[in-house]
Amino acid sequence: MNKSMVITLCFFLLIAGLTLGYQLRQRPYEIESFGMGTIISQTIFGSHSATVGAQVIQQIKYLENMMTINAPGGDINCLNGQAGRRSVSLHSESYAVIRSALRFSRMSGGAFDITVGPLVRLWGIGTGKAKIPSDEAIKKVLPLIDYKDVCLDTRQYRASLKKSGQMIDLGGIAKGYAGDVAIKTYKRNGIHSACVNIGGNVVTLGNRPDGGPWRIGIQDPRADNGKIVGVVKVSGQAVVTSGDYQRYFIVNGKRYHHIFNPRTGYPANSGLISVTIIAHSSAEADALATAVFVLGYDNGMHLIKRYGVNAILITADMKIYVTPGIRGSFHLEDTGEKYQYVKKS
Ligand code: ADP
Ligand code: MG
Repeated sequence: MNKSMVITLCFFLLIAGLTLGYQLRQRPYEIESFGMGTIISQTIFGSHSATVGAQVIQQIKYLENMMTINAPGGDINCLNGQAGRRSVSLHSESYAVIRSALRFSRMSGGAFDITVGPLVRLWGIGTGKAKIPSDEAIKKVLPLIDYKDVCLDTRQYRASLKKSGQMIDLGGIAKGYAGDVAIKTYKRNGIHSACVNIGGNVVTLGNRPDGGPWRIGIQDPRADNGKIVGVVKVSGQAVVTSGDYQRYFIVNGKRYHHIFNPRTGYPANSGLISVTIIAHSSAEADALATAVFVLGYDNGMHLIKRYGVNAILITADMKIYVTPGIRGSFHLEDTGEKYQYVKKS
């Protein structure tokens, strides 16, 4: 190495050291906003994090308009409006979400199905007008629930629904997709350390600036909001939970929640009350959490293994199962000893 190379190397090491030192000393930029019908919290380390945070919120609002059932002129709204009639053109983002959702439908044998729209509307859970529909009303909408009726034109970014009355609802995957978009935006802007929480869909980028992992609390499904059963430590991964405690109503002591079994038309009753998936993609984690929640422990574990992701499953008989890959990073914090921690593969 000649003298000028040594000087250049020293210069780079100095800059790298200063940058690292700056990052370690940094305080996070934290912001809470509202979007996709929920609270979005961002924790961002790095320079110009306020600008990047604002950019992420703008993107999420853009995706929301495109993907929500209710936004007039949005892709999904138009697609549903033309059900049984004609195909509509899609933006690349909604096309990608539908395509990936259909893949999860096939892999889960239909447990995950974005054509649940008519069921979501019929039950009205979370709208303030929730009611138990009659068996007849449920039987009437069941033929409309079938992901195989979603036709995607792969060359032209167009989609159609076969039957009139069919409705796509991306509630089980859109927040997860938005989380992946947020992480891409952080990266593109030179951020190396961030965490975004979109209504319980948490996605992390890198480590915390001190080099340690992010600590994500897992909600106790049978306690007040904010009370956790445990903490999982992750770096650069998504932690997404589907549970029967997020949106529900109770009639005669029975809980009716917002995740439906597309076969029965009733809220899934698989024996699981909370499913957390830990994966690299939050869209994948979101879809899988919903699918596993519907499938139940045995078939759900099968799907988890097939995708090579990790999970924390909580059953109605108050047992917590954690997959071997994250046992070292999961810490039980069940102070009331309400749950039994079962360690088996
Ligand atoms: P959350 O949206 O509360 O985080 P989920 O990711 O499990 O929870 O998504 C639940 C939402 O997904 C429901 O509100 C509904 O819009 C939609 N949904 C309900 N059942 C299914 C299903 N079987 N497959 C796909 N989406 C579903
Ligand atoms: Mg989901």
